Amino acid sequence: MVVVGSGAAGCAAAVTASVGGAQVLVLECADSIGGTTALSGAGAWIPNNTLMRAQGVEDPKTPAMRLMSRLAYPHLYDPGDARLGMPADAYALIEAFYDNGPNAIDFLISAGAADFYADMALPDYYAEYPENLVTFGRKISPQARKVSHEAAGPALIRQMMSVAEEHSARVLTNHRVMSLLRNSDGEVVGVEARTGLRTVLVRARRSVVFASGGFLHDRDLAREFLRGPVFGGCSVPTSVGDFVRIGIEAGAELANMSHAWWYQIVLDHAAGHGQTAGGLFMPFGDSMIQVNRHGRRVMNEKGPYNERGPVHFAWDGREYCNLVLFSIYDDDVANNPDTIGHRWPIPMPGEKVGYVVSGQTLEELAVNIDAHLAEFAGYTVDSS
Ligand SMILES: Cc1cc2nc3c(=O)[nH]c(=O)nc-3n(C[C@H](O)[C@H](O)[C@H](O)COP(=O)(O)OP(=O)(O)OC[C@H]3O[C@@H](n4cnc5c(N)ncnc54)[C@H](O)[C@@H]3O)c2cc1C
Repeated sequence: MVVVGSGAAGCAAAVTASVGGAQVLVLECADSIGGTTALSGAGAWIPNNTLMRAQGVEDPKTPAMRLMSRLAYPHLYDPGDARLGMPADAYALIEAFYDNGPNAIDFLISAGAADFYADMALPDYYAEYPENLVTFGRKISPQARKVSHEAAGPALIRQMMSVAEEHSARVLTNHRVMSLLRNSDGEVVGVEARTGLRTVLVRARRSVVFASGGFLHDRDLAREFLRGPVFGGCSVPTSVGDFVRIGIEAGAELANMSHAWWYQIVLDHAAGHGQTAGGLFMPFGDSMIQVNRHGRRVMNEKGPYNERGPVHFAWDGREYCNLVLFSIYDDDVANNPDTIGHRWPIPMPGEKVGYVVSGQTLEELAVNIDAHLAEFAGYTVDSS
């Protein structure tokens, strides 16, 4: 079996197939394994997982299905309908996630490929929804997460890949899969990959699994599929959507391409290079607001990060009025020596960073903001 990509999805496929007796080859286009997963905290959201049940928390199917359906298809959701208002395929997908998620995690743990624990201290997303009866325990994380967010992703990848390799899986880095190979009957029998200046053909006797991540860093795909202008994000630079094109050629139907788990990021970091893992998890300080370019507050700054992100896509009939928001804070925030919590990107007192603009008077501040924004004129959209 050929697995394309070595993040969590690719590693899970490689572990499952190799433990099951298949001869597995993982092809990874980057020069190291792990993809975006290796940058992440490697948490997974698994309803009704065994680890939460071991803590005495039950997660029955009906309310969990309601929660996921309402969140996935708010405009279709109908709690009185047998399929909760959803089309059959969408309902089946969510049901498969509920039914099989715990088994998948149990398998990885029993194979020694993961050492997750249920994080009983972290409240669930959308905990306030009436459909959400289980507000702790669905989020599971590798033990390394107890050390730090940064340690967890690499630890999970190492553990999964080492189990796959113990079962004879092989990994080739610097191999970018470009297309599928087919026999005269049209069946997929392998892949064509590029390594350096060479093209190699790889035979797959059983199957090819694509686990090649997202497409944010292909500007054309991002422009065509995402719901508005995006300057950058946390996925690795190799998230260029090769499988979008390969999948289309193979006849795949695309769906759910416009959504992401949006996160506010610092324009200065994202503009130009596009790859930035840091975001505004919880804006720091009390005397702090965010305004759009018209000076209007447009959200609850202390709302969850994933609900603040989509606010940037608001279209007022003339422009993306919230595309760039400005965090404004006073000396109480700037001079606060607190290092705990999510202080970033507010610098420590006395620390100078390029993305914080200040002035001794309002007039000076305005001039400095104009000068700073001029650097990003090519990235912002102003149709007025
Ligand atoms: C800081 C941070 C925090 C996050 N927090 C959360 C969170 O709280 N909850 C959550 O659910 N998610 C979170 N995520 C996102 C999550 O980590 C990713 O969605 C997930 O890891 C993606 O896994 P993947 O295996 O699909 O893709 P990846 O891990 O990106 O792996 C894909 C791999 O495929 C390779 N590849 C691409 N194209 C080719 C090709 N043509 N040939 C060969 N190889 C190819 C890439 O180089 C890459 O290594 C976070 C991410 C970051 C960075």
